[in-house]
Amino acid sequence: MNKYLVFSFSVLIIITIIFAIFFINNNNPPPNDSDRIKIITTIFPLYDFTKTIIGDKADVFMLLPPGIEPHSFEPKPSDIIRINQSDIFIYTGDLMEPWAKDILDGIDNENLQVINISDGLELMGANSVVVDIENYEHEYEHKHEHKGIDPHVWLDFSNCQIIINSIVNTLIKIDSANSIFYFSEAERLKNDLFMLDDSFKEGLSFCEIDTFIHGGHYAFGYLAERYGLNYLSAQGFMPNSEPTVKDLIILVEQLREKEIKYVFYEELLSPKIAETISNETGAELLLLNPASNLSKKDFKDNVSFISIMNKNLENLKLGMQCQ
Ligand SMILES: [Zn+2]
Repeated sequence: MNKYLVFSFSVLIIITIIFAIFFINNNNPPPNDSDRIKIITTIFPLYDFTKTIIGDKADVFMLLPPGIEPHSFEPKPSDIIRINQSDIFIYTGDLMEPWAKDILDGIDNENLQVINISDGLELMGANSVVVDIENYEHEYEHKHEHKGIDPHVWLDFSNCQIIINSIVNTLIKIDSANSIFYFSEAERLKNDLFMLDDSFKEGLSFCEIDTFIHGGHYAFGYLAERYGLNYLSAQGFMPNSEPTVKDLIILVEQLREKEIKYVFYEELLSPKIAETISNETGAELLLLNPASNLSKKDFKDNVSFISIMNKNLENLKLGMQCQ
């Protein structure tokens, strides 16, 4: 083989290798897991909002397994490791996730960005009383049946706007290269939530009945306050308490007095209480879903927060006989 041939052959091989590398890189970028931003959220609304904003630019994982009742959730050791290895951790606050503080105190990832979405929101107690969390205990302790602060802040859709701002502001801090993308996706989502808020305002303005009665825990106080509705529930903020007979009698009396034909139940808890009220009064059962978590089926079907809320609106309109 002469020198010229050897040279040509070598050039050909080099060109082939360069092409191969180029081809592989373009068609199959090596999966470099450590480069992708990892976000952990607790409850479903935070997961759904984050997923919508990030598109395919980052990875988001919901800590709550689908089908689990969120208030009784306790993280496993593997969840703690997952939080420790993530870039952003998003949770509702210390009332919804009382376990979060200890985990965050013990974490050794100093780059972890933590978003407590209740920071910067006005928190409410029951019966639509807006309270200051610091002064809550001694001011209101003896005035209300449902003691404490309501953690279900996402059920006021104006709060969702602030929650989305918190998420996007943190995202652009650690991934400024994609800030235009995050901003525009967040704007689109905020706009969808504005429209949702408008349909609730419109849909619930002319109703025969001004009250909705819930055989579940007190999760819809923010929603009731925003749209000027009366809301009665069988349990307090946490779904772990059994209602007293007196509580049930009050609910049954209200149903009869206001000639209410429907009683609401919630999906991830036993509908036993709502069924008892229904048996007592003949009221029909309607689902009202706080969307803190999804059933396994809804999670598999990629159901969105907004679609759950639209279903809630339909049921509220039916339950309160709105035009
Ligand atoms: Zn709840």
